[in-house]
Amino acid sequence: MIILVINAGSSSLKFQLYQMTDESVLAKGKVERIGMESAILTYEPEGKQDIREVREILEHTTAIRRVLDMLVHPEFGVLQSAAQIEAVGHRVVHGGESFSSSVRVNEEVKREIKRLFDLAPLHNPAHMLGIQAVEANMPNTPQAVVFDTAFHQTMPETSYLYPIPMVLYKKHKIRRYGFHGMSHAYVSERAASFLGRPLSELKLVTCHIGNGASCAAVLHGQSLDTSMGLTPLEGLMMGTRSGDIDPAIVPFTMGKEDLTLSEVNSMLNKHSGLMAISGISSDMREITQAMEAGDRNATLAFKMYEYRLRKYIGAYAAAMNGIDAIVFTAGVGENSAVLRDAVCRNLTFLGLELDEAANMRRDGGERVITKPGSRVQALVIPTNEELVIARDTHRLIFKSNHVE
Ligand code: AMP
Repeated sequence: MIILVINAGSSSLKFQLYQMTDESVLAKGKVERIGMESAILTYEPEGKQDIREVREILEHTTAIRRVLDMLVHPEFGVLQSAAQIEAVGHRVVHGGESFSSSVRVNEEVKREIKRLFDLAPLHNPAHMLGIQAVEANMPNTPQAVVFDTAFHQTMPETSYLYPIPMVLYKKHKIRRYGFHGMSHAYVSERAASFLGRPLSELKLVTCHIGNGASCAAVLHGQSLDTSMGLTPLEGLMMGTRSGDIDPAIVPFTMGKEDLTLSEVNSMLNKHSGLMAISGISSDMREITQAMEAGDRNATLAFKMYEYRLRKYIGAYAAAMNGIDAIVFTAGVGENSAVLRDAVCRNLTFLGLELDEAANMRRDGGERVITKPGSRVQALVIPTNEELVIARDTHRLIFKSNHVE
């Protein structure tokens, strides 16, 4: 079965084509600057030459058509016909309280995703454009949606409610949802299998630290708590996002700096985090380089980032009354040995003993970075959100085809 995975943004669209018999990627790529005369299509077929094309692509339907044209291209294509694609899976950021797992797309599901536009105004409308663009180009191909929030729907009220008037939850569903759910779920399962223990017996803290960053307390395979909330702004310090701050900073800054709400929102989402403190970059690679060169602000940014992450790990150890393993994943978690070192060497009180040499090794795969016998283990597990979407889509479409 061949499955196309789509991650649609408002002006971009990423795709990966999977052969599910061996879960191999046949081709991947992206379309950027949708809506412009000079949109860019990047196409990377497995075993063939990569292609970069600049051309007018004004909406998502055309973007999908161009992607399909590439996939069946006589020279660079990997398929004979687009009809070989048996299902399409989409990433959808917000599933609200309506979706606690992936679902097959139908009219009711589309209505519900639209109803959730309010909660994710930047993301869900773009995902809907992706779904409609696939419908327009491949009207008979079944589609599924996989949500960033679904895994965290197991959080109890004590985790997901904010201590603010209940009417705001009842009327507007203001609560904590959490994000990066596919990644937290995937690395939890991989960690259990790597450790050779049932997930249902493990207490894990999963740290998805990339451009956006969140950690989760995964108790016996279920999300007990996670650091992102109503939006992906809460929690850890990130590349350009502040993470946790005193909410009173919002009205205070608006008054002092004469800023509008939207300007403060933009400040907290786009001009805070590593970028704001270092004054150099939101990218951990550049922060680390500047720190090694002795830059004071980069050093401060790194230390704050590490400190805030370590506090969350400590909090989640308390939330679960102990932990068995900490999992590092995503761009920073998988690649920054310096960050992992700084976090782990200050967690000896938990019984975590870092293996410095193992931590420095750059073999890219799943690995343990604690010493044999360490009471709490630390692991690096590369995440794969596209594969989660492909697998869920495969399971949903295959299963429902057999039920019908
Ligand atoms: P992601 O959002 O998971 O793609 O992560 C992207 C982020 O990972 C980048 O912005 C970098 O900050 C970080 N990153 C990627 N490679 C490295 C590396 N070798 N060392 C440190 N950070 C890295």
